[in-house]
Amino acid sequence: MRDFSQGVEHLSINTATVRKQLTLPAIIEACARRGIRAIDPWRDQVAAAGIAAVARQLKDAGIVLSGYCRGGFFPAADAAGLAAALEDNRRAVDEAKTLGTSCLVLVAGSLPGALAGKPASKDIGLARSQVLDGIAATLDYARGAGVPLAIEPLHPMQAADRACISTLEQALDICDALDPGRTGALGVALDVYHTWWDPKLAAQIARAGRERLLAYHVCDWLVPTRDLLNDRGMMGDGIIELRKIRALVEAAGYAGPVEVEIFSDSWWARPADDVLDTCVARYRTVV
Ligand code: ZN
Repeated sequence: MRDFSQGVEHLSINTATVRKQLTLPAIIEACARRGIRAIDPWRDQVAAAGIAAVARQLKDAGIVLSGYCRGGFFPAADAAGLAAALEDNRRAVDEAKTLGTSCLVLVAGSLPGALAGKPASKDIGLARSQVLDGIAATLDYARGAGVPLAIEPLHPMQAADRACISTLEQALDICDALDPGRTGALGVALDVYHTWWDPKLAAQIARAGRERLLAYHVCDWLVPTRDLLNDRGMMGDGIIELRKIRALVEAAGYAGPVEVEIFSDSWWARPADDVLDTCVARYRTVV
């Protein structure tokens, strides 16, 4: 396993981690000050700062993207909605290409309208087939742009509203169906928060291998968890076996950044410098 104790060479910060405290330009500055070489920004943050300015700032700071958040949300209640989702994903690919990233993260989506609390359907099977079609169509476009797509399975507690792809196995089945040659154009973003509980996790990480493991996200699972979305823990504060999972990922050939991604009302309430310094400290000691 790589030794993380001496520096931050392989650390990336998902910019949602301090999105309530700082603008994206300020996050990039704060990361650069700490010697952090990678981030994973969100589309709304990039849009607010202006994509050309962000691309310039990243280049000047020598910071690369360990991912771009996010594409996906393919299912829709009608043909117009499906087409709009594909168009939005093409835009996300274009932005990802402009910024230069190792992958565009895909959160699949699930029952149309569920995210707004008004599900238009109960048919998760239909949602899954729309996701497969949506990824297939986006993959053609992304290949042309040279942007790899990384499907991120989400914890099943979010299966109704955010992702009907809940396990690494499901995500890899889609990869095998759409990219049987393991070309590197399609893979997974493995997030310990969503997958730590999975009895098949070790076997599926081995199955994924270097070609499919495009991103690795860390935080921790708090006991008790008080919110389905915004109560993620800082690494070391919960029950996820972080070292064990990273050993599996690295044994499968992954040598890329380890991205800290924490959605947390309590960490958003702290000063950004404290949060980032804690991320660095925990990365070096418990990740
Ligand atoms: Zn993630």
